[in-house]
Amino acid sequence: MYLSDPSINIDQRKNSGADVFDPELFRKSAEMVIAKLEKYLGESSIRGLALSNPYVLLETAKDLMNEENESIPAFDQEKLEAIIDLYIKTGIPVYSPGYMGRQFSGVIPLAGLIDLISSIVNQPSSFYEAGPLPNVVERIMANELNQFIGWEPESFAMVTTSGATLGTLTALLAARNHKFPHIWSEGISALEGQYRPAIAVSEDAHYSVSRAVGIIGIGENQIVRLPINKERQICIDKVRPTLEAAEARGLKVFCLVASAGTTSVGAFDRLDELGEITKEKNIWFHVDGAHGGSLLVSDQLRHKLKGIEKADSFVWDAHKMMFLPGVCTLLFYKDRERSYGAFHQQASYVFEKVPNIYTQFDSAEQNFECTKRPLIMNLWVLWSLYGKALFANKLEYLCDLTQQAYQILKAEPDFQVLHQPEANILCFRYLPSNLVEKDFPDFQVAIRNRITEGGKFFISKVDIDEIGSLRVVFMNHQINPDHIRMLLSEIRKAGQELLAQITTIRG
Ligand SMILES: *Cc1c(COP(=O)(O)O)cnc(C)c1O
Repeated sequence: MYLSDPSINIDQRKNSGADVFDPELFRKSAEMVIAKLEKYLGESSIRGLALSNPYVLLETAKDLMNEENESIPAFDQEKLEAIIDLYIKTGIPVYSPGYMGRQFSGVIPLAGLIDLISSIVNQPSSFYEAGPLPNVVERIMANELNQFIGWEPESFAMVTTSGATLGTLTALLAARNHKFPHIWSEGISALEGQYRPAIAVSEDAHYSVSRAVGIIGIGENQIVRLPINKERQICIDKVRPTLEAAEARGLKVFCLVASAGTTSVGAFDRLDELGEITKEKNIWFHVDGAHGGSLLVSDQLRHKLKGIEKADSFVWDAHKMMFLPGVCTLLFYKDRERSYGAFHQQASYVFEKVPNIYTQFDSAEQNFECTKRPLIMNLWVLWSLYGKALFANKLEYLCDLTQQAYQILKAEPDFQVLHQPEANILCFRYLPSNLVEKDFPDFQVAIRNRITEGGKFFISKVDIDEIGSLRVVFMNHQINPDHIRMLLSEIRKAGQELLAQITTIRG
């Protein structure tokens, strides 16, 4: 018989009092929150970012904190509302047509409700046991999306990761372990003196790639930069000579990373040809489709990723052009076996030695994360309700709109448009005839800052060939060609005001 220990005093009062677990309170709060969000979503005025001073915001936030810390205070509806109002109003207005600056979108609001369920039912999804539905749904979505890639149904794998940065890190680790299997246990120093493993990437690759190269022990100095052409794609003719020159320097290039939609201009590398070269050279072929992977769901745009089936691994952010909240990244491997190659660990408390029907659905061995959000659920629910057309239509609209913006800009003599857009990103400069460029080297950046301060439009900037340029990313179906024309007149106004200031200063 079990006797209770009188020296242990369980105070039942500690386990009651607070109403934080009360379902009715939850419902009432939820109704309040949803009403506020409904209003927020319905607000369609043209506006950019009204960025607050972080120190002021910090004080405002502090003022909203309860100072009582001895006992649990009663629920304070007013305080909660004030916090929610502050949260809603301090960010980039991603649903406004003035938002043209970044790669995250005004999301499909229903996805937010699914996210709410994920938070409440709390089913971390690395193990089937904890997240049964998310784990089977990952398999369903893998097959749905593989329709557009075309691998053999049972031979490939897909895992979700929190962001493409982590996806690419995971894939490059799998590549490294595949080519140099002993590094996992012996470390990179085991290769001492033989050769230096290296990774070839486009000059325009996202910084997440060089970051991963640093983390997995290859070292940034072992990045072989592949030259790009005028369209800012990897120059196919230069790939073989660049790889051969690297070999001659004692580097062993084991992986090549291409972009399907670069961050700066949205350029698509020619995957088909790169796939041939990597196969011939026995190099792992990784495709960073963080931005442009979504174009696969569109019949009109899929050809940009021609050759994707040749990739050994491929990341695709559904939180960019699939209009989902951050984050939901899909990491694909052509060869299912290799998806288990990134991490070689055994942990008896979670991994079963003999797989059973449940553990077959676990993704923990393929995943960096242990406790992981059920990232797939938002995508799957929307896909179940609406199918691919919802996503395809929206991204086709945005890519067509970008073509239109290109035409509008080309017709304006005081604007220089820097590339023919392939997706929904466009870079250009305002170069009026009264500008003497050497007098004002940061002119584009100054315009961008002035536009931001104006509070009507939010655009970004990027260096193209080391010269500043303006950049728009259309992530928002509220934007139409009139907004583009309005933006151009705002830019002209800002630019001319800046030039007038300079002239005044010089007297
Ligand atoms: C956005 C982006 C990334 C980074 O993806 P996260 O999901 O933000 O980690 C990587 N590569 C490209 C080309 C991108 O556009």
